[in-house]
Amino acid sequence: MPYLSGKQMIQQAWKGGYAIGAFSAHNAETIRAILLAAEQEQSPVMIQIGQRVINTLGLQPMKKMVDAFMAECSVPVCIHLDHSRSFEQTMQAVRAGFHSVMFDGSHLSFEENVRITHAVAQVSHALGIGSEGEIGKIGGTEDDISVDEKDAFITSCEEALAFAEQTSVDYLAVSIGTAHGMYKQEPKLAFQRLSEIRDTVKKPIVLHGGSGVPDEQIRRAISLGVAKVNVDTELRQAFTEGVLDVLAKEPDEYTLAISLGRGSEFMQQRVREKIRLFGSSGKAAEF
Ligand SMILES: [Zn+2]
Repeated sequence: MPYLSGKQMIQQAWKGGYAIGAFSAHNAETIRAILLAAEQEQSPVMIQIGQRVINTLGLQPMKKMVDAFMAECSVPVCIHLDHSRSFEQTMQAVRAGFHSVMFDGSHLSFEENVRITHAVAQVSHALGIGSEGEIGKIGGTEDDISVDEKDAFITSCEEALAFAEQTSVDYLAVSIGTAHGMYKQEPKLAFQRLSEIRDTVKKPIVLHGGSGVPDEQIRRAISLGVAKVNVDTELRQAFTEGVLDVLAKEPDEYTLAISLGRGSEFMQQRVREKIRLFGSSGKAAEF
């Protein structure tokens, strides 16, 4: 199965009442872990390319690396640009062949966020790829973006609706109490607000900061209109645990294929667990 537009993938998940896992990739081993997990679960999947790996490896090399592993893949895959802070970069991703792009203007004024997100959405619509925008600040640290968790506020229905209508993005990241990174205390998602936003906006909702949110809260969020769940921190944790597992037993093991390979196996397992939790197992056949 070849690549699929993020728009089509998220729409179908949203209508089907499940969510697509958007898993962050950082190198070849993490790309492979995501693809193998999706293959085993026969699930559609999104591979997210974030700002840190773009700074270190670059946008084009990451896209080409995913391409290289796609030959053995039979499930629908979408490559998504995560948290872009510039119109230029979103266009570079589009040109490189990404199937979904997120412009994050949550640090800008509402008007400026709308202006750029709308421009990105227009290009995306013309090309048939997916577009994501963010309204409201999501707490924690992601890539070079840091927002104090206390300052993270819950998105209002009014601003969510105005933003969705004025930008015409395909899916919407809102702030409902999640944070990037690991939680200091158990998060409590604002379900009431989420269901109000769903009823008002009538578009798929994206949940950022999916790592460390208790499973029952994730399930409930999906039942209330979340159709894309971003997971990064938990996967990096699993990968690191795999590497450390090798080194703890064999401190002189310098064969990277072995240590990184174990990291990849651990991460693959975590991705499979998330795919099952999000309800997308076996859904590849429906595309
Ligand atoms: Zn995020």
